[in-house]
Amino acid sequence: MVAAAAHNGRLRRPVIAALAALRAAVFPARCLHCRRLLPADSGGFEKPAPAGVDRDLLRPYFCSDCRAAVTPVESPLCPRCGIMFKSRAGADHLCGRCLEQAPSFNMARAALVYDRSAVDIIHCYKYKGKTRLAAPLGTILWRAFVRYWEGRPVDLVLPVPLHRRRLRRRGFNQSDLLLREWQTHSHPSAVPPMGAGVLARTRTAAPQAGLGRRERESNIRGVFTVRRPEQVDGRNILLVDDVITTGATAGECARVLLANGAARVDVLALARVI
Ligand SMILES: [Zn+2]
Ligand SMILES: [Zn+2]
Repeated sequence: MVAAAAHNGRLRRPVIAALAALRAAVFPARCLHCRRLLPADSGGFEKPAPAGVDRDLLRPYFCSDCRAAVTPVESPLCPRCGIMFKSRAGADHLCGRCLEQAPSFNMARAALVYDRSAVDIIHCYKYKGKTRLAAPLGTILWRAFVRYWEGRPVDLVLPVPLHRRRLRRRGFNQSDLLLREWQTHSHPSAVPPMGAGVLARTRTAAPQAGLGRRERESNIRGVFTVRRPEQVDGRNILLVDDVITTGATAGECARVLLANGAARVDVLALARVI
């Protein structure tokens, strides 16, 4: 029985490889954004080396031009809200907005600049059903977590919740799906606990697009509720979203979590507007 299973396993591998080669010959992989043919050796997504350039993780899905346009967030940035300064010289320093009014979260960071190329990639993932992008994007998010939170305690990770109607329509919470990737790229003890259902979005806000910062803040106010305050009380919380635009959504989540006794709220996003 065991010998037969091992024999099957040995046989199965070359068959799978042959089928994959045949599939690649009949349906060559194309860039998910510009549809250009990808080189045959682009390969599938594999567990990456811990170091390395984030945009290289997108190699099986996007052509070299589309990947080259992806911009990582780098210093100098604001140590509080994580915004990257357009001037590339000098040290990290507080931005004008944080000096004027400190956000309710303790610190926010993002892996990528939310520019044209990141918009296209994240739209592919969120709206065009390319959920296989959760593997590289979740890994990019994990690397940012390791980079910025090393040595900082995080007791609970919460994805920014969607309203249940939107969740039903889309079929998945984009931040939650990225976080599931964390388990596959790390030792389980290195991944902080995830809090499903701790924070909920109990009403929908009017679309935020086109609104200024203050309008976004009042539009989003009262949208979130803490369902399990006992899990929040005294904890260091990491809130995870796919994109930070003005920080109004993250700020409102942080406000509600702090009002329910959270010790500290940090924010991590895949991309942020600069
Ligand atoms: Zn392309
Ligand atoms: Zn700032």
